[in-house]
Amino acid sequence: MNISAISKIKLEGREFYIKRDDLIDPYLAGNKYRKLYKLLKTPKNKLNKIISYGGTQSNAMLAIAAMCKSKGWEFDYYTKPQSATQKTLDIGNYFHSIEMGMNHIEIDATLYRDYIATLFLNINADEFIVHQGGAVSEAREGIEVLADEIRSASIGVRSVATPSGTGTTALFLALALKEFRVYTTPCIGDVAYLREQMQALNEIPENLIILEPKKKYHFAKPYKEFLEMHKKLIDAGVEFDLLYAPSMWEALLNQTKESLLYVHSGGVSGNENMLTRYRKKGFI
Ligand SMILES: *Cc1c(COP(=O)(O)O)cnc(C)c1O
Repeated sequence: MNISAISKIKLEGREFYIKRDDLIDPYLAGNKYRKLYKLLKTPKNKLNKIISYGGTQSNAMLAIAAMCKSKGWEFDYYTKPQSATQKTLDIGNYFHSIEMGMNHIEIDATLYRDYIATLFLNINADEFIVHQGGAVSEAREGIEVLADEIRSASIGVRSVATPSGTGTTALFLALALKEFRVYTTPCIGDVAYLREQMQALNEIPENLIILEPKKKYHFAKPYKEFLEMHKKLIDAGVEFDLLYAPSMWEALLNQTKESLLYVHSGGVSGNENMLTRYRKKGFI
C-alpha cells in the first residue's frame, strides 16, 4: 500500500520532520487510514456493511465513508440529532460523507447510549462495527506498518509526536517503536482521561510521554491561539488540522528541545468547516 513521504519544516528556529500521512488520500488519510488499514486489506466480498457512530463532522466518519465507497460496502452511521443548518452545508466532512453514500441515522439524545449498545448485540457475520473514532484493537496492525515506515526511513531522530483523541494511535505507536520516545497530548479531555482511555487498550509503556496542554481546551471549539498556530504552520509549509495539531505543536515547542518527527494525523478536510466557524466568531 502507500508509503507516505517525510518532509521538513522550520518552526521557531527548529527543524522538524513531518511524516506526511495527510497526503495518502483526500478523504482516507492520516491516522484514520492507519486505523482502518486492516479493514482496507479485507477482501470486498468478506463484508457487506460497516456500522459506526459518533460526531457529525468526525474525521473517522469521512475515512470510513471513503473506504466503503471504494469497497462497495454499505455504511450506516449513527449520531445524535444534527442541527438543520449543518445538513444544508455543502462543505465539510458530513457533506462529503453523504456524497460518498453514507446512510446517516439520527438517534434521539436520550436514547442514544442504549441504542448504540444494542448495535453490538445485533451484528451479522458480514457486518463490522468500528468504535467511535476508530478506537479498536484492530487499529494496531496499521499503526505497526506506520512504525516500520518510520524505522526504515533512518532519519536519525529518536523522538516522534502525534496528538491524541482516544489515544489509540499514540499508544500503539509507542508499543511498536520501543526504541523511540513518543510524545502526545490530550485534545479531548485531560491527561487523566487520556490515560484511562489508553489503559483500556493496553498498559501504557514507559517510552510514551503525555505532555500537559497549556490550558484546558474544549474539543472542537474555536481558539484564537489555535488559529495562530495553524497559520504559522501553513507559513512553514504544511497545513495541519485545526482540532488536534495546534495544541500538540504548542506543547512540543514549549516542552521539548530535541529534533523530532511529527506524524501528521490528517484531518485537513475538516478545516473548511472549522474556518467558517472561526469567521462567525470574528477571529478572521
Ligand atoms: C482522530 C484524530 C486524532 C486522534 O487519534 P486517536 O487515535 O483517537 O488518538 C488526531 N488527529 C486527527 C487529525 C484525527 O482525525
